[in-house]
Amino acid sequence: SLRRIAQTDERIGAFLTLDEERARQSAAALDARLRQPGGEQGLLLGLPVGIKDNISTEGLATTCASRFLQGFTPIYDATVVHKLAAAQAVTIGKLNMDEFAMGGSNENSAYRATRNPWDVTRVPGGSSGGSAAAVAAGQVYFALGSDTGGSIRQPASYCGVVGLKPTYGLVSRYGLVAFASSLDQIGPITKNVEDAAYVLQAIAGYDERDSTSANVDIPDYVSALSGEVKGMRIGVPKEYLGAGIDPAVKEAVMEALRVYESMGAEWEEISLPHTEYAIAAYYVLASSEASSNLARFDGVRYGVRADNPDNLIDLYRKSRSQGFGPEVKRRIMLGTYALSSGYYDAYYLKAQKVRTLIKRDFDEALSRYDVIIGPTAPTPAFRIGEQIGDPLTMYLNDICTIPVSLAGVPAISVPCGLADGLPVGLQIIGKAFDERTVLRAAHAYE
Ligand code: GLN
Repeated sequence: SLRRIAQTDERIGAFLTLDEERARQSAAALDARLRQPGGEQGLLLGLPVGIKDNISTEGLATTCASRFLQGFTPIYDATVVHKLAAAQAVTIGKLNMDEFAMGGSNENSAYRATRNPWDVTRVPGGSSGGSAAAVAAGQVYFALGSDTGGSIRQPASYCGVVGLKPTYGLVSRYGLVAFASSLDQIGPITKNVEDAAYVLQAIAGYDERDSTSANVDIPDYVSALSGEVKGMRIGVPKEYLGAGIDPAVKEAVMEALRVYESMGAEWEEISLPHTEYAIAAYYVLASSEASSNLARFDGVRYGVRADNPDNLIDLYRKSRSQGFGPEVKRRIMLGTYALSSGYYDAYYLKAQKVRTLIKRDFDEALSRYDVIIGPTAPTPAFRIGEQIGDPLTMYLNDICTIPVSLAGVPAISVPCGLADGLPVGLQIIGKAFDERTVLRAAHAYE
């Protein structure tokens, strides 16, 4: 892994922090432990992993790709990092992202643009773009990302790898720097579905340190990969294949559906009628939550403090003006506006109601179908610079992933062929806590 990173990362730019020394030490410690009698082998023994830079790692810089947290080094590990260590994976560094996970191209990183390994003039997607690019470039065996409105699935789709957003609450958020707490989920980005099942096995489970962690039994994910989808019922939302979807992406998805048919599954067109309101609702809700969550960055408690403030208010103002990038500021302003008295009912409350309608769309469809299948993103990876000046176009890239996040259900993106030589992702969506079926469907196709 370290050799491969040295060879490729100047071109790809996936890593924000690489700690060779620490990686070698933990590998050596593992080695020593295994040589002792009775030394048990963990589920992810010796596998090099890269962690998205919004997940807390003790003693290893965690910046959320923000100037605000330049040089910030946490004093504790996120629960997922702790669980990976317990499974004997080896953390080797931190991966680039859009600042505070806001974005879909990695261009909002304050530090560097990550490039898509398939075509370095294109974005890797985002916000977990560093995680997806690192896996696609063979720099790490797997990576962790976070997904609030598509940030695991969309970059996985653009980089031709597998990305799984678990059911909200299945994986602990303790130590994940919060963006929109009612949506954020950590999940694996891997080369294939089997690896995703192994990593999920290692990181899923109840955590008393996360108040929204679900207290559910964790099933065996790996044994779900039977290769069987005979009789499986698939719903295909017409809203995910309509206007705005690149015809080559649609063709790749239709071809995948023919593969499912040939394996004995059945598919039907369905409707998720509130899809058209999902992006508007998401940007009200996610920005509102972000404006509240990011209030903690005040120049006092974490990260960078502005020089020479006149007084306390000036310290806040200067630190926040200097520390946050333009997209983060846009979200904070949107969210503060939506939550302000007089506007709360019209925006925030209304968006919550829309969220309920969207969730009902999924509940209804998933009561009749085992999984819902469509594209992960409407187009393949776009060019660096192409959309950065146009936030609304950028927001539309998440039209197929955001509704799933609002509903809280699990979904995976698996590679499904190419459009104009670039990877296309197939999105498979399942019932809450039914990751087994999602993984089984993905694995049989892959
Ligand atoms: N692209 C979406 C946004 O900018 C989703 C981000 C995410 O899932 N973290 O908010």
